[in-house]
Amino acid sequence: MHRVKVDALTPEMSVPAREWRHLRVLRLRAGDTIRVFDGRGAEAEATVSALHEGGATLTLGASVEGAAETPQPVTLAIALLKGDKLADVTRAATELGVARIQLLTSRYADVPDIGPAKLERLRRIALEASKQSRRAVTPDVLAPIPVTQLRADGPAFIAHPGTHARLTDHLTWDAPVTVVSGPEGGWTDAEVTHLERAGFTPVTLGPRILRAETAPLALLGAIVATGV
Ligand code: SAM
Repeated sequence: MHRVKVDALTPEMSVPAREWRHLRVLRLRAGDTIRVFDGRGAEAEATVSALHEGGATLTLGASVEGAAETPQPVTLAIALLKGDKLADVTRAATELGVARIQLLTSRYADVPDIGPAKLERLRRIALEASKQSRRAVTPDVLAPIPVTQLRADGPAFIAHPGTHARLTDHLTWDAPVTVVSGPEGGWTDAEVTHLERAGFTPVTLGPRILRAETAPLALLGAIVATGV
């Protein structure tokens, strides 16, 4: 069934212009049923009540329970990567259940910053991936902050080669979870020290060194493998 993101679930809804392009090609007719979700966890059935030039009106139906979300939101904090790597990570991380992607600048990050157009593209990719993976939550992709400003509001882990603790041995679901993955050049000692003092537990992803675009997916894969 086709899924459309709307701004809010209300008794009558207009299809946002960005979604209409996809819906138009489906040749929907009045009376057809689709799914709507708000990107914050709410999902429902909706009936096409009217079609008009450039849009459609939907009538809210029964809500759909059992959204495919983790017990607490998971934030992936990731150092900036070059080329299309952040796009690939955003797509896969959304499929793997993240609720938020916090971009980070760091001493050895591949690029010093990203512009608004690239950030907007990452948000569009998160939207498409959340639809494709049948989630009712679309992850926020947040503009970069320095890694030294990162705060944990629950169990928090930093992937760092050479450590021995395993994420799954320390993972609890009593508060939002944060996982942090570094740039191709790795973290500086000062960055690791800062994060440890801020409550982040360094964890291993095994004895092999993973590429900077592989490590975040290994972190999230470890979480997914616990069955959430
Ligand atoms: N020379 C760098 C170093 O020793 O840190 C390698 C960095 S690695 C290519 C990129 C990032 O992926 C790291 O900063 C870390 O966050 C994560 N990573 C890669 N392999 C890892 C492993 N085996 N254990 C934990 N983290 C790993």
